[in-house]
Amino acid sequence: MSVLVVDRHQKPLMPCSEKRARLLLQRRRAVVHRVEPFCIRLKDREQESSALQPVALKLDPGSQTTGLALVRVQARETGEGHHALVLTHLEHRGEEVKKHLATRRGYRRRRRSANLRYRAPRFLNRRRLPGWLPPSLWSRIGNVLTWARRFMRWVPVTRIEVEEVRFDMQLLQDADITGSAYQRGTLYGWETRAYLLEKDQRRCVYCGATACPFEIDHVLPRSRGGSDRISNLVLSCHACNSAKSNQTATEFGHPEVEQQAKAPLKDAAAVNATRHAVVEHLRRLGVPVGTWSGGRTRWNRERFGVEKDHALDAVCVGEMADVQSPPMRTLQITAQGRGRYSRTQVKGGFPVGYLLRQKRVKGIQTGDLVLAEVPEVARGKKLSTHGRHRGRVAVRATGSFRVGSVDGINAKYCRVLQRADGYGIGLLEASEPPPSHPSKRNASFLPMAQSQGYPEAEV
Ligand SMILES: [Zn+2]
Repeated sequence: MSVLVVDRHQKPLMPCSEKRARLLLQRRRAVVHRVEPFCIRLKDREQESSALQPVALKLDPGSQTTGLALVRVQARETGEGHHALVLTHLEHRGEEVKKHLATRRGYRRRRRSANLRYRAPRFLNRRRLPGWLPPSLWSRIGNVLTWARRFMRWVPVTRIEVEEVRFDMQLLQDADITGSAYQRGTLYGWETRAYLLEKDQRRCVYCGATACPFEIDHVLPRSRGGSDRISNLVLSCHACNSAKSNQTATEFGHPEVEQQAKAPLKDAAAVNATRHAVVEHLRRLGVPVGTWSGGRTRWNRERFGVEKDHALDAVCVGEMADVQSPPMRTLQITAQGRGRYSRTQVKGGFPVGYLLRQKRVKGIQTGDLVLAEVPEVARGKKLSTHGRHRGRVAVRATGSFRVGSVDGINAKYCRVLQRADGYGIGLLEASEPPPSHPSKRNASFLPMAQSQGYPEAEV
């Protein structure tokens, strides 16, 4: 990935290559501004006197992983060319948040029933504010906003492109929409497929088959006056589709499919709730925000032959004439939280230990990135931990820390490289497959689409 660059007043400049960054550091024209993600500060440059190109921050919000990409936008005769600068996977901790809350709820429940002190019963006296979302969803939104803000501090972002909806409802309902924005005939099909996969939950509506190539079946066949309206379309396997031939779904022995087809379109609002909230908040960051549909992302990916990957998906969000994404290492950011409020370690419902009340020991906090340089001999004693150790630290009140996997390092040998901020950061090699959810692996295929199926429902 490119190295992030800021000027002497910490204002963002264009990212540079790793090689260039190395030279700038060697010639002492730059200093390290931040270790993870790697950012340098040019000592002799100011933003006002530098040439900046338009940079777009692109986001593909997902329930487990959000893809973020920074691309340089170049004008072409046919439109815009997007050149990837930084690719990022942002791993959320939604499930963990949920688990912690369930644990807390359990403790509170016990305290109410235990004979400790009187607590007035509480029920039906809480009201949720409008726009309330569960904390696990808020954590996802918070992660996205945090990193959007951070990248805007280090890169001169001129606009944000975000995949807001999985499919364009307007385009689905009124298939006659035309205009420069909608390339009907090509994009329309992608929206339809994205929607049908979601609606029929990736299974044949007739036999329930899941792991097979899907076809689009007309409930009332075209040959008998059936339309291409989305409500007349369902997902079907090849065998069922050809067996059904020119019968209606009822004649084929599936009246429930016909019944459902008559019902109004499923409300996609629930699926898109978090995505709307993300966009709402991104709009407050002070740069123009463009919103796009997931069908278009799929279409772009197919058109430019881009691999299926969270960060590369983000690169394909929006309207563009071409995409360049040279092989590069992807930044892997994992949300880890900032520790717990609870100070008691519990095992099987019993306290087995207590955590420190204060977070810092000798100025170092659990989660800080440290470099420990342990000498061979100290006070005439040989040290078994001798050597250089770099990694996240776990602190103890005694001042004997664990760095990475090495335990028993004295605090005085540790130097903080970067403070803990609730995120773990690493780099994925270019050849490494993206760590995606196992259930996404056996995604379904559509006859016309060689790409992998759509991600899981993102709620
Ligand atoms: Zn079938």
